Amino acid sequence: MSVLVWVEHDAGTVRDATLSAVTAAAKLGEVHALVAGAAVGPVAEAVARIEGVTKVLVADDAAYAQLLAENVAALVVGLMDTHEAFLAPATSHGKNIAPRVAALLDVMQISEVLSIKDASTFTRPIYAGNAIATVSSRDAKKVLTVRATAFAKAAAQGGTAEVVHVPSRGDSGLSRFVESRLAQSERPELTSAKVVVSGGRAFSSAEQFRALIEPLADKLNAAIGASRAAVDAGYAPNDYQVGQTGKIVAPELYVAVGISGAIQHLAGMKESKVIVAINKDADAPVFELADLGLVGDLFELVPELTSKL
Ligand code: FAD
Repeated sequence: MSVLVWVEHDAGTVRDATLSAVTAAAKLGEVHALVAGAAVGPVAEAVARIEGVTKVLVADDAAYAQLLAENVAALVVGLMDTHEAFLAPATSHGKNIAPRVAALLDVMQISEVLSIKDASTFTRPIYAGNAIATVSSRDAKKVLTVRATAFAKAAAQGGTAEVVHVPSRGDSGLSRFVESRLAQSERPELTSAKVVVSGGRAFSSAEQFRALIEPLADKLNAAIGASRAAVDAGYAPNDYQVGQTGKIVAPELYVAVGISGAIQHLAGMKESKVIVAINKDADAPVFELADLGLVGDLFELVPELTSKL
């Protein structure tokens, strides 16, 4: 079986989630990687070196510069005559492109795949990750998004894939890029950070969130996350949200401060290797999952912890 993997790249760099998608795709068959973008020669060269990729298909055209899902989906569909499966990482871009591909191919999408049992059987989370469903598809073409944290990253070096240019399908005219406003941060990226420090509603204000969480995150070289309650209250920006409707993270260490542990939050971080919780309520549900817990007032415990690190 030939599998087409959509390569997520940013500023000339292949995103880590792509490496996990390659590992997943290799369980299905021969891995072909699709690099769509403008002036993506260096990205294509980097992808050709990823272990497990046998062919790199390059669509170099201004129509793909902003990775508009409508344009990329049309490109993918044009390549599916020679591929039995399309696979994208379950990132914002991947989740934007894959459903369009599935609809255009008139097949179902299998979302957030956690494991691949065989060519047509997959596991995926349901009920905010509280149950794992095994799903089987009889569709001739499979369209999958895969959860990057569930698959090891393929080695970025060692491959010698052939690079082939494919014709552009041009601009579909269905959508138009206006602008992107990106948050700038010196910190590690939330979904790939080894350590994440997250804060919840208990911080009571954006000022207190920053004043307490940032020094702790600095000491641990951590990315900062937040519960939805903290985001909704304006204590932390939207892109910090961890959980069912936020980002899925699985760092080596996850520190949850003033977060109760609602299932929707746990859905985004419960695969973390070591979970530390700080909460003044000893019965908070987060302690059921935590490996280490500190019961007490975060306004005292966090500065003390930070000063001792
Ligand atoms: P709370 O539940 O209010 O908990 C605050 C905690 O802080 C409490 O445990 C309290 O004991 C503790 N505390 C208070 N003061 C102190 C102090 N001084 N020192 C120490 N501890 C203190 N939530 C997410 O996080 N991510 C999601 O992606 C998400 N998606 C959702 C999707 C849906 C469809 C729905 C319905 C909900 C979703 N939620 C999500 C919301 C979720 O249900 C919870 O409401 C939210 O996670 C609660 O955030 P919190 O733990 O910060 O706040």
